[in-house]
Amino acid sequence: MAVYKFGGASLATPDAVAHAVSLVARRDGAPTVVVTSALAGVTDALLAVAHAAATATPAQLDAALGRLRATHAAVLDALLDGDDARTLHDALDASLAEVAALAAAARAIGELAPREVDRVVARGERLAARIVAAALGRAGVRAEYVDATDLVVTDGAYGEAAPDLAATAPAARRVLRPLLRARVVPVVPGFVGRGPRGETVTLGRGGSDLSATVLAAALGARRVVLWKDVPGLLTADPRAVPNARVVPRLGAREAAALAHYGAKVLHPRALAPLALAPAGKGTRVLVRPFARPDERGTEIVARRVESRAPVVAVAATMDQAIVRVVGRGLHALPGVAARALAALHAAGVPVSLVSQAASAYDVSVTVDGARAAHALDALRRALAPELASGELESVDARVGVATVGVVGACAADDARAAARALTTLADAGIAPLATAQGAAGASLSLVVDATRAVEAQRALHEAFRLHEPAAARTARVARTDVVLLGAGAIGRELAAQIAAAGARSPLRVCALVDRSGFVFDAGGLSRRRIAELCGAKVAGRPLALAPGARAATAAEALDAIAAHRPSRPVLVDVTAADTGALLERALGTGWDVVLANKVPLAAPQEAVDRLHAAGRAGGGRLLHEATVGAGLPVIDTLRKLLEAGDRVQRIEGCPSGTLGFLFGELGRGLAFSAALRDAMARGYTEPDPRDDLSGQDVARKALILARLLGFRGDLSDVAVESLVPEAMRALPRDAFLARLAELDAPWEARVRAARAQGRVLRYRVRVTRRRIAVGLVAVAPSDPLGALSGTDNQFAFTTARYRAQPLVVTGPGAGAAVTASGVYGDLLRLAAERR
Ligand code: ADP
Ligand code: ASP
Ligand code: MG
Repeated sequence: MAVYKFGGASLATPDAVAHAVSLVARRDGAPTVVVTSALAGVTDALLAVAHAAATATPAQLDAALGRLRATHAAVLDALLDGDDARTLHDALDASLAEVAALAAAARAIGELAPREVDRVVARGERLAARIVAAALGRAGVRAEYVDATDLVVTDGAYGEAAPDLAATAPAARRVLRPLLRARVVPVVPGFVGRGPRGETVTLGRGGSDLSATVLAAALGARRVVLWKDVPGLLTADPRAVPNARVVPRLGAREAAALAHYGAKVLHPRALAPLALAPAGKGTRVLVRPFARPDERGTEIVARRVESRAPVVAVAATMDQAIVRVVGRGLHALPGVAARALAALHAAGVPVSLVSQAASAYDVSVTVDGARAAHALDALRRALAPELASGELESVDARVGVATVGVVGACAADDARAAARALTTLADAGIAPLATAQGAAGASLSLVVDATRAVEAQRALHEAFRLHEPAAARTARVARTDVVLLGAGAIGRELAAQIAAAGARSPLRVCALVDRSGFVFDAGGLSRRRIAELCGAKVAGRPLALAPGARAATAAEALDAIAAHRPSRPVLVDVTAADTGALLERALGTGWDVVLANKVPLAAPQEAVDRLHAAGRAGGGRLLHEATVGAGLPVIDTLRKLLEAGDRVQRIEGCPSGTLGFLFGELGRGLAFSAALRDAMARGYTEPDPRDDLSGQDVARKALILARLLGFRGDLSDVAVESLVPEAMRALPRDAFLARLAELDAPWEARVRAARAQGRVLRYRVRVTRRRIAVGLVAVAPSDPLGALSGTDNQFAFTTARYRAQPLVVTGPGAGAAVTASGVYGDLLRLAAERR
């Protein structure tokens, strides 16, 4: 047996009602109870009529009633005809005429009493249930309208009546069982019950969920299905957090917590009957998408769902007030908290959160914003003596706050989850006004200014990666969070390469940092976001201007990111700046570092020593394959040789693709100025080509290699032959470029002289443990270096074992794509090496 509840949003049009009918018809005679909401928008409209009844003009009232008539008539005319339609039209007319009469009476008295409000509002469900019952009959399903006042017995509190399960169960069984046995589908208006005197009462907004679970518990139904306009219970309200996702299984305690935080999707007390009634214990509760009945939606299960993810959802209760009782000093308030709570209870003001620091200096509670004034009154009266004597300083209220709930089986007792929640808010610049966390609770409450509630939910949703499937959130393979420093050509290429590898990759780019600021997403920047950010960078816009970015120095950015405790973080430096201090800090706090940036490793020896020392102390590893030969396995080869016990005596090579290209062109007879301009146009050079021609870049690579062999010395110890004549070194860039042609003749002479000896020109580094030389040489075409072409790099390792014939690594050694892949390789190595 099943109870099907159709929500208001699901009953919006004739087609929707027909769809609901077809879902019941699909049951094919299996015992089914149908509970309906009012048609979409009807409860709101009826409440508006009820509240304006005393003051509205007859014309206004007529208009409102006319709209209600049209809403219902549209559905029933589309689905029914003949006697059925006539009967329902009569019922509709009678119902609205009564509302008109009640309103007329209200105008006379000046108000509509709560009892009458419930009578008015209950009409929505009653009319909807009649229409659905008739439509079922029309579709060949035997159905019968059963009024809720015959079934659901309540305490009679108007507007928020609580069902009495013990009294409801026998009534529901007595009335419904015979119908079910006779294969008739009872159709019951939800949201409605009977007070002690038989009067009609309502169960509070969203109460048809509760009607459904009460009846399911009473009848011991196998399941109760709440058909909704959403795909199930989501990780957040989709109106606040658009990338919320369905939670497939949720413990009842978490679901109830979610509902209590005001997730409109479920009435706050909807799950209570099932926990209370012995028969209800076996009932499954399903929240399913009305529009896509083949999807599974959410199952709410009685026991706690085993999950390693502490947080399953976020929600917010809006329109709250925080009321504070402030004392004068330590322990000045014995018993005051108890009396304050008692006073609020006596005044009928429900309290949702209580927070008191151990210092007992003040006590804060949150209440419904509409009752703030009432709460203040009650407290001031109850605590008048202390306020008068000065023992208490004040009682005050702040309206316009919201309680954001972080819901999960262990959200409250997982210290890391709580810490993460608080740092997330801090990073978003949202100060919590009060917090509370139950020792055994299923949630953590954070009171914030209401204007920041949506932002807070989004940030928390993001921080707990709720937009990812639960399995991914708790996956055993730890993700490697990549923080990308520098969003130039290499950085963009690398980000794209990592993003393209998708969810299977252990790598995830969680932040992009440039000089202006940073963009961070604890859950990893999506491929699309990375593409957008890179696009903006290409267009010349600094990161700080991107949506969701923060302006910050790189050091501030790293601190903010570190506060989120990224998983196995790696700082990737693809800048060309002196980032030593930053890297030292990262390594010292246990972050790994991957460099394409040569500058920090070509810094003075003691700075480089400090870097390595920081890594040893903090546990961070430093890899830098891309600093020499871009993606070519130069450092990797060296490492393997050394690991295998070989002794590397010398490394010779051409580590500049730019100069390699230039000499290739000169060898083919091109003028120097033409060849250089071509290299510039192809993007092979630094913005000022003298940076390449001076040999500084090559010298840095040589120094990095030499240091790997044990060389201890600085850049100033490297003998570099600059290709820029002394007189042209200090010129402004444009003046230098204007005088390029002056260099053509001397270069032509050099090339010719080399050729006369059957040789070609190369710009070569030669590195040993003791000496580094960088400069122009003329080599035979049979020399390995002689055969190089284009922008290729080459490195020849002469070792104890590779003595006669060096071990040679050759290949493209410049360009964003190959440099990025050198960095990528290092990242994968770090990800693969368990610590
Ligand atoms: P019904 O039609 O059954 O009355 P409601 O309209 O009361 O359904 O509840 C569904 C709405 O609740 C959704 O449209 C959605 O906007 C809102 N909602 C808020 N929080 C959540 C959540 N965590 N999961 C799903 N829906 C939510
Ligand atoms: N129709 C009522 C409301 O809008 C009850 C419900 O939908 O559950 O609150
Ligand atoms: Mg609802």
